Amino acid sequence: MRSGGLEARKARRCGGTVKITIDVDKCIGSGSCEMIAPGIFEVGDDGLVQLLTDSPSAEHHGAVRTAAASCPTQVISVDD
Ligand code: SF4
Repeated sequence: MRSGGLEARKARRCGGTVKITIDVDKCIGSGSCEMIAPGIFEVGDDGLVQLLTDSPSAEHHGAVRTAAASCPTQVISVDD
């Protein structure tokens, strides 16, 4: 599926948009999202994740997806 991969890379390069939603009630404050995507996620003084932007620029999309996949409680959803 070489062309599919190329198309996917083009789409990433061109930007597009993603929408992030979080279910803060399930957050355990591990902080991995903040380490992976600082500026997008931040663990507040209450020990819960805060979303600093719900529509990050394209350069952050990879980190946002990695953060979502790494969340131990699957709190983070990323929709194209
Ligand atoms: S990785 Fe998940 S559980 Fe950990 S702080 Fe972020 S949203 Fe909360």
